[in-house]
Amino acid sequence: KKYVYTFGGGKAEGDKSMKNLLGGKGANLAEMSAIDLPIPPGFTLSAEICDYYNTYNGEWPVGLEEQVQESVRHVEGLMDLSFGDASDPLLVSVRSGAAISMPGMMDTVLNLGLNDQSVQGLAQKTNNERFAYDCYRRFIDMFGNVVMGINHEEFEEVLQKLKDEHGADLDTELGVEELKELVDRYQTVYRENTGDHFPQDPNKQLHLAIDAVFGSWSSKRAQTYRKINRITGLLGTAVNVQAMVYGNMGQDCATGVCFTRNPADGTKELYGEFLVNAQGEDVVAGIRTPRNINELQADMSQSYEELLEVTEKLEQHYQDMQDIEFTIQQGTLYILQTRNGKRTGTAALKIATDMVEEGLISRKGAVLNLVEPRHLDQLLHPQLSQSDIDNDSIIGHGLPASPGAAVGKVVFSSEKAEQEHKKGEPVILVRIETSPEDVGGMSAAEGILTSRGGMTSHAAVVARGWGKPCVAGCDDIVINYQKQLFKNGSTVIREGDWISIDGARGIVIKGRKPVEEPSFSDNYHTFMSWVDDIRDMEVRTNADTPEDATKAREFGAEGIGLARTEHMFFGEERIKEMRRMILSESSEERKKALQGLLPYQREDFIEIFGAMEGLPVTVRLLDPPLHEFLPDEEPEIKALARELDIAVQELRQKIRMLREFNPMLGHRGCRLGITYPEITEMQTRAILQAAIKLKKEGRHVEPELMIPLVGTSEEFIHQHEVIDHVALQVFEEEQETVDYKVGTMIEVPRAALVADKIAEEAEFFSFGTNDLTQMTFGYSRDDAGKFLESYLQEGILENDPFQVLDEEGVGSLVRMATEKAHSVKRNLKVGICGEHGGDPVSVRFCYNLGLNYVSCSPYRVPVARLAAAQARL
Ligand code: ADP
Ligand code: MG
Ligand code: MG
Repeated sequence: KKYVYTFGGGKAEGDKSMKNLLGGKGANLAEMSAIDLPIPPGFTLSAEICDYYNTYNGEWPVGLEEQVQESVRHVEGLMDLSFGDASDPLLVSVRSGAAISMPGMMDTVLNLGLNDQSVQGLAQKTNNERFAYDCYRRFIDMFGNVVMGINHEEFEEVLQKLKDEHGADLDTELGVEELKELVDRYQTVYRENTGDHFPQDPNKQLHLAIDAVFGSWSSKRAQTYRKINRITGLLGTAVNVQAMVYGNMGQDCATGVCFTRNPADGTKELYGEFLVNAQGEDVVAGIRTPRNINELQADMSQSYEELLEVTEKLEQHYQDMQDIEFTIQQGTLYILQTRNGKRTGTAALKIATDMVEEGLISRKGAVLNLVEPRHLDQLLHPQLSQSDIDNDSIIGHGLPASPGAAVGKVVFSSEKAEQEHKKGEPVILVRIETSPEDVGGMSAAEGILTSRGGMTSHAAVVARGWGKPCVAGCDDIVINYQKQLFKNGSTVIREGDWISIDGARGIVIKGRKPVEEPSFSDNYHTFMSWVDDIRDMEVRTNADTPEDATKAREFGAEGIGLARTEHMFFGEERIKEMRRMILSESSEERKKALQGLLPYQREDFIEIFGAMEGLPVTVRLLDPPLHEFLPDEEPEIKALARELDIAVQELRQKIRMLREFNPMLGHRGCRLGITYPEITEMQTRAILQAAIKLKKEGRHVEPELMIPLVGTSEEFIHQHEVIDHVALQVFEEEQETVDYKVGTMIEVPRAALVADKIAEEAEFFSFGTNDLTQMTFGYSRDDAGKFLESYLQEGILENDPFQVLDEEGVGSLVRMATEKAHSVKRNLKVGICGEHGGDPVSVRFCYNLGLNYVSCSPYRVPVARLAAAQARL
């Protein structure tokens, strides 16, 4: 069986389609080799081995050892060097890389193959002793840390001490003798921690390092990252073993990272950082301050030109913005990694529209690949309003690492961030810098502020990925963890104080600043027009007020899929009439109270229909249990009794009578309309009168009346008749008619089971997937929080079923009901109006079932439009 795939010398056994097996890094190294980019040769151990390794307690599958040895020979051939040679050794890096990139999750070991002998050989061969020992000390540190689990701090301390002894600020100021000394001291650290000498056999080093990478897949921090990012279904990580190239050989060497376009705003320019005479992760480690990539042009103009060429070639090839890692060894450029770059929503839209204009990609390609639903979501997020920020309140400038405004209370640790978040407190996580251990706290925080690190620091990368506001490298502030505060001059901010950050401008502001709604760029409108050209499923909105309806229309909603009417009964005057209605003794009394409510309802519908003029509006008739409208506090009960002119005792009694043990399964939905048809009558009257009024003004409206919580066709027929009866009356009174539809929400599992019978009577269906999920699982939506978290952690559920539609169970009901309905009425209009209508994965599912529309909250409308277009491609 093939476990190992080689690359290098213009060829490769793998390619970019093999991410599952080779990981993102390995697949792209292979791909880049094959298109003849300057890639140091190497080989990739497939992720299948990781699975085997972790299943069989660290065993290698039979035959792997031989394949690794063969592949080492392959690299030796291409490099004309031999692994383990004492006078001129081939050195390699051992790098992890799973199918989905997990920044900083698994560590790399560089310069593997060195030992006490070959370090001298390397020194002689390159005529650069300093370089050889620099490689060796790095290797001992990385190997000790990554492979043997020695705390990196221990090496750091020894290094710091040595630097202090020699008055050196930077690592680069250490001379040959010092580095030799450092190697000795590092070996002592190694021995003290492991009780063993530093391994001298390169093959043993390689074996142990490969093991460590496979083992790191099941480390706690890797698991946490996967959990938070809901990464499931991967075999494991692949391991890449690759010939070393050296950015630390001298002043004509460098290492760096860069994006082919600006990941914050999308501008077409190289964007990144580099360090001269450095290796590996020095750039992101924050030891030396990296320099802007533009300065490379002046320093090493030829390498810079080459880099530009390579990035063009990469973009052409991948048809996407790339995030690359490179090293320059004595004037020669090598690419060590490429991947599609993470970017902000603003950048995604600019890059997509620019790349189409440049002819790099088709519109379809751009819609499918260059903008993700969450990018649009991010754009809709609020910003700090400019006018409220005076210069005095700005307490720090940092890098605009991830846009958006965040306002919260300062916390200095991830644990605290998670605690406060659980209590519902918004927090800003303030750290000198973040590491993978902080991801839990970063996820809990509204925003992240660091005082150290660049645009590619851990905090910046993770925050951008999540669309979370972040200001990084804000060195105006000095953080003191001990005292739980940070300072800028005389300004002191303590734990619990409010601050606001603007991740688009990189500023930190004292206090709790107001935020304002975002505005949309031309790129957004252009891109969304392509989305709508492709999309063939309708997107509606759930809106109960004219304001929401107007907002949703701006966002592109093509009608209302769910207008709840219960919210309309909570106004000052209305609630009185509502309560009077609920507490009525007779149908007569009830009708009188409803008469009082009618004008309010009519007014509401006139406004909503007006806002949605020309588009369909689905109004759901009264749904919640009635006691939700009654007071339960004693003073309120007394006041109500006075108002209704009945004894407090009597009122209390009545309220008690209305209490239900299980209101969600109680007297609600169409059950109300059936026991009190007056309610359905009044609502129908209000809806149709409003529609006719607008029609008489020459405005087109399309009312759709939706009967909630139907479980049997008889329920539906009953309510349908009440509605039709009132309609005739209203048309007669008004001397005018209007087209209306009567349909139902499918939200009781029984309704899905008898959907064909109900469909015979109904003119449309809308899946109320919130209740349908609640009733199918038997989970109370309001109480599920108590156990859902454990379910998700234990892997009993993969997602919260109230957020992502449970395709297997609830989805089956939706599918079955749709098929049954269409079997009796081929053109029955079917949609979905639960929370799931705004979830991209669920939208795709609905599309594949052939639903006519999804309906979601106004802010999700652009997301649903894009998801619907992508589902079609
Ligand atoms: P990560 O997944 O954390 O980015 P990488 O495997 O990409 O880890 O390695 C980190 C850094 O190590 C790279 O950016 C590169 O600078 C350096 N590196 C890795 N392999 C080599 C190599 N063969 N030669 C030189 N530098 C390397
Ligand atoms: Mg790393
Ligand atoms: Mg990398």
